[in-house]
Amino acid sequence: MTDINLPFMYYVFFASIFGLIIGSFLNVVIHRIPRGESIVSPGSHCPACRNPIGAFDNIPLLSYVLLRGRCRNCNIRVSSVYPFVEAITALLFIAIILKSGPSWQAMLEMIFACVMLALVFIDARHHLLPNMITYPAFLFALAAATVLGGLGDWASGTIGISIVIPALELGISPLRAALIGGFLFALAAPGFWLLDRLDLVLFNKYFEWEEMNEEGERDEEAIESRYRLTIYGTMIAGLLVAAGWAFAVIYFSPNEPQAFDDAYKGLLGASGGALLGGGLIWWLRAVYFYIRGFEGMGLGDVKMMAIVGAFLGWRGTFGVLLLGSIIGVVVGSILAFRGKQGFKTPLPFGVCLGIASLIVLLIAKH
Ligand SMILES: [Zn+2]
Repeated sequence: MTDINLPFMYYVFFASIFGLIIGSFLNVVIHRIPRGESIVSPGSHCPACRNPIGAFDNIPLLSYVLLRGRCRNCNIRVSSVYPFVEAITALLFIAIILKSGPSWQAMLEMIFACVMLALVFIDARHHLLPNMITYPAFLFALAAATVLGGLGDWASGTIGISIVIPALELGISPLRAALIGGFLFALAAPGFWLLDRLDLVLFNKYFEWEEMNEEGERDEEAIESRYRLTIYGTMIAGLLVAAGWAFAVIYFSPNEPQAFDDAYKGLLGASGGALLGGGLIWWLRAVYFYIRGFEGMGLGDVKMMAIVGAFLGWRGTFGVLLLGSIIGVVVGSILAFRGKQGFKTPLPFGVCLGIASLIVLLIAKH
């Protein structure tokens, strides 16, 4: 493949602009999804006076500086979280470009980083990891690992699989791979749904959206319908990905046996990583619940680690769990000493896992 060569700084510049724009969109996601609002309409408006924000007052980072962090209409202080999210997204995108170069891998790593950022900020503010993000993100992580496997860019899963699901690696025929792979994609949403159901049986606790409204008001019907929309939406997407995978296997495997083999291993490795990451947190959580009698970690943390495990593979999972626990001890101690509840202060574990995932993503070599 011949490629034109652009100066590397061009990509770095592009990544920073792209990061600022995506970071601005992430602010909308972080602000609206936990409140059950649409991320499309209405357009940007001041949370205090509801006045629409014009295009020139909505430039990432720059507008915040020019308006000195205030709303043009009502002069109220705009939270500094907004420019912070924009800046941190841009910095992460630059770091990913520096690490992975201009590639598909960098593109997919940027999406993964956005998922982690959204979960970190929502968990910090609301102690919540919304299904509306975790369900589709899990499907994305499985598909991304498959694509990266096929491109030969990603080797994290290949070693894991021989440990986690050794039987599947023996004698791969295209038909079997099409069926098993398709089954795994189709299972992403129902798998999470089963976790939700199991929670109801084991902990007598329904899905996390019940904590959504800050004022303590609950619109059960709206919550239920959003939950259903998330499940069905992810299920349909999963079936489409499964069909695409089966088609790709039958179409590509005769000519590109190696790429097909690597893609399939990527998917199996991702499934193994998800099982490992999600499974470990799930057991920890269950044991903690039966010993202490209350939830130390939420089901959102389990789903988050399934996503991380799928994208970063089994080694990445261990790295994130170790680093996340260390960050957890530090953050937990700070919260305990600053808060009134001492060591009973709830720790947003998703924040720690998310920060750890971003660090592992950036330092991982393949
Ligand atoms: Zn205002």
